[in-house]
Amino acid sequence: MKSVQKENSQIVSNSYQGKKYHIVTYGCQMNVHESEKLRGILSVLNMSETEDIDKADVIVFNTCCIREGAEDRAYNNVIALKPIKEQDPSKVIVMCGCMPQQKKGKYNLKEKLPFVDIIIGTHNMNMLDQYLLKHAITGEQIYDIIEKPVTGMDNAKAIRDDHLNAYVNIIYGCNKFCTYCIVPYVRGRESSRLPQDIYLEVRDLVQNQGYKYITLLGQNVNSYGKDLKYPMSFAELLKYLCTIEGDFKIKFMTSHPMDFTDDIIKVMKTEYKVAKTLHLPVQSGSSRILAKMNRHYNVKHYMGIIKRIKRAIPNISLSTDIIVGFPGETVRDFEMTLKLLKKVKFDQVFAFMYSKRTGTPAATFENQIDEKEKNVRLNKLLRLQKMIQKEQIKKYFNKTYDCLIRHINGVAVGITDGGKEIYIPGYKYVNQNYFAPVKVENIRNHKLSGVIK
Ligand code: SF4
Repeated sequence: MKSVQKENSQIVSNSYQGKKYHIVTYGCQMNVHESEKLRGILSVLNMSETEDIDKADVIVFNTCCIREGAEDRAYNNVIALKPIKEQDPSKVIVMCGCMPQQKKGKYNLKEKLPFVDIIIGTHNMNMLDQYLLKHAITGEQIYDIIEKPVTGMDNAKAIRDDHLNAYVNIIYGCNKFCTYCIVPYVRGRESSRLPQDIYLEVRDLVQNQGYKYITLLGQNVNSYGKDLKYPMSFAELLKYLCTIEGDFKIKFMTSHPMDFTDDIIKVMKTEYKVAKTLHLPVQSGSSRILAKMNRHYNVKHYMGIIKRIKRAIPNISLSTDIIVGFPGETVRDFEMTLKLLKKVKFDQVFAFMYSKRTGTPAATFENQIDEKEKNVRLNKLLRLQKMIQKEQIKKYFNKTYDCLIRHINGVAVGITDGGKEIYIPGYKYVNQNYFAPVKVENIRNHKLSGVIK
């Protein structure tokens, strides 16, 4: 019996051999990295990737439901494939990730997308190869949304696009329940990977695959390790990873101000391998709105972190996320956000208009802000940030930054931990992709240039 089963699975597995797949990814870095793992899973079936969706035998939509826009785009793009599927029923369409995982999603995917062959959520994407094999046998639609992860995606090999920066998951899920966010409902509670597994993955990426940046990923990386049998803090994990030999830097995202401890600042300051850049979402400059968002911190707490990190690491590059027009946000609340931007002077701000997510508490809050008003506030904020960034360029003058030295269009360029480019005219480079200190000596037309020290 066993050998017949083995033979069957061989036949089925061969049904994908040499076929092509195309993955469309929506959303954050977590999704981008999960798509890298989906590539690894599909390669096990001996399939290869195509950039051209029309040439693909298997089309995978790895979806996001954080914002309504991303959800609508994914839905419309899947719907657009209906005539193609009718013309060629042998094409396999897969929809996976956050959209199907929502309990009260905007779209009833099972009913509205009968032509989609496989619909799975966030917790069973690692089984895509098995779903494909099953579909090859039955030819029927598979709709499988499960509540808890079977096993994480950890065991899947990632096929990465980027050859300099590698994403590495350290924690899945989130326990924070911000009132506007759907993530804890679709990704579940926090679950940290074992430190030794992370260590081995990072060591391999650095020493065998030549990666220069490792970006540790999680919805809230600062909460790392609390759920482990032998707890380990995020600061301790950073220190542990810094013991890996090699010329590389560690970045991480996303941080949460509530869990961002002074230990982390200390490791960032003392460990050369931890990049001097921090993305710390504030979301609003009004403590009243932060409480309504259930962010677990107030403006004073946030500004305290900013003050301490700037003092410890003067060259730190800071970025943040802002939600404009949260329910009940008054003009005064909004002005407080502008005031915070002026005070902190972020190098980069990612600002979004609040968008209602069905199934989250904030979607039912009173005093939802008019779309037109949200738009006016967003544009005002973006204009202010543009001015701040223009001014910010001056801070680089006469300072030295640890940079990754690269060749861009035949010129040597140093890239700071925060991603700023410093041109190094006249530098006779031999190699590239190594770290060296670069001093900024000129600023012209918002471009920096300098010398290697
Ligand atoms: S911290 Fe808040 S915004 Fe971030 S994933 Fe968790 S619930 Fe969502």
